[in-house]
Amino acid sequence: MSEKTIRVRFAPSPTGGLHLGGVRTALYNYLYARKHEGKFILRIEDTDQTRFVPGAEQYIMDCLRWCGLEPDESPEKGGDYGPYRQSERKPMYRKYAEDLVKKGFAYYAFDTPEELDQMRISFKTEQNPSPQYDQHIRDKMRNSLSLPADETDALLKSNAAHVIRIKMPANETVEFNDLIRGEVSFNTSTVDDKVLLKADGMPTYHLAVVVDDYLMKITQVFRGEEWLPSAPVHIMLWKYLGLEKDMPEWAHLPLILKPDGHGKLSKRDGDRLGFPVYAMDWTDPKTGELTSGFRELGFLDEAFINMLAMLGWNDGTGKELFSLDELCETFSLSRVHKGGAKFDFEKAKWYNHEWIKRSSADDLLDKVKSVFEVKGVTVPDDQLLMMITLVKDRCTLISDFWEQGSFFFKAPASWDLPAIQSKWNADKKVFFESFSDSLSMISDWSFPVIEQEFKTLAASKNIKAGELQLPLRVMLVGGKFGPPVFEIAEKIGRVEMISRIRKTLEMLG
Ligand code: GLU
Repeated sequence: MSEKTIRVRFAPSPTGGLHLGGVRTALYNYLYARKHEGKFILRIEDTDQTRFVPGAEQYIMDCLRWCGLEPDESPEKGGDYGPYRQSERKPMYRKYAEDLVKKGFAYYAFDTPEELDQMRISFKTEQNPSPQYDQHIRDKMRNSLSLPADETDALLKSNAAHVIRIKMPANETVEFNDLIRGEVSFNTSTVDDKVLLKADGMPTYHLAVVVDDYLMKITQVFRGEEWLPSAPVHIMLWKYLGLEKDMPEWAHLPLILKPDGHGKLSKRDGDRLGFPVYAMDWTDPKTGELTSGFRELGFLDEAFINMLAMLGWNDGTGKELFSLDELCETFSLSRVHKGGAKFDFEKAKWYNHEWIKRSSADDLLDKVKSVFEVKGVTVPDDQLLMMITLVKDRCTLISDFWEQGSFFFKAPASWDLPAIQSKWNADKKVFFESFSDSLSMISDWSFPVIEQEFKTLAASKNIKAGELQLPLRVMLVGGKFGPPVFEIAEKIGRVEMISRIRKTLEMLG
């Protein structure tokens, strides 16, 4: 018998920006699919029209593209199991809900929103502060289980607004094997009679997810741990629909936790602690509020993906740096942790720094070019490549290339004069005046020659060259940073070098 093709899906709801936990779910799906030569599917779960946000679907697709996680089947790309947007699959779901009613596993409920509100008030007790529509309450509500059959028929005939709810059995144990968490069990008494089909004929998430995982032949479901409490409902639905033999395997991924480990990382934590939680910038179309993303902050996609992969997984060897291809080869579910993973922004930046160092200047060129363009500075590619090669080991974010490298093309906007002044004296001043004069005489403008000239002059004036290097650096770049100072001197050129030394001397008085 031939092995089943692995088919996994990332099934986001288009309700706003994509949280890094969402991208990690997409990533683990993608890695599993690649490792097992399967298919990675993007399904847009947009049945809750009240939460639909324009632009969010496009944003999700752009995020996946930025991360290099291209789906094999998606709303954009199509595929044999489409449509890939649940709202476009609306006519497919009713028949499954009706089938459940026929088999006695679901029922019609006619309660109005007011009646539901009333229920929450009248059944509220100290032991049960938020009563739910469940086995204890369903008999007291208006549904096809509590009403006489002819009344139900009449209501249905008159097109009375109704939903279809699952009839959760009392006191049954639902057990399943989670690929990450092992044996999990729930008692059905703790689960309410969830709505499956809404009054407008749209399925809820619970019905749609089961029907679509079935129709799309999904073999494994990887999703966040926050969906674990919904698993018993889904498993009961697979059973009740008589589809159990096609049920996918389940894997609930550990949460990404706040830096202090207390609770799930939220967008608000990012705002509060000053780091992004979304993959890319997201502007809320209603409020216009901008939430910043890793990409725009200056993260490389390779680093972002590498960092996310390690939030909940490792290969057991202590290795930390993996490309997407390497992850596809090495990833295994058996090494995904059960416990939540604390998010650490400093560590995220460490990944980015390492990835900038590993990248070639050519790979970084376009990204650095955009940083310079935003600042209104256009530099020929060969010059930018030269600068990137010299400073990339010093950059943590792509935006750092401006601070670390703009002095090659533009005089500093300000100078850290106190850094020079603390050890400044008349002899040093004389030295720099002579040095700037001598620069005009250098015939072979290259850093070893400039350095030699600097050292010879220092020796002739009895000053340690080491003591003069820091002032020279500050004069050329504006501060105490940057690559080897004579290489900077060579690159910025004679005229500019003389001008920066003279300008600083003037400011030092
Ligand atoms: N639509 C759900 C979400 O937004 C997906 C849950 C699942 O993967 O089953 O996260």
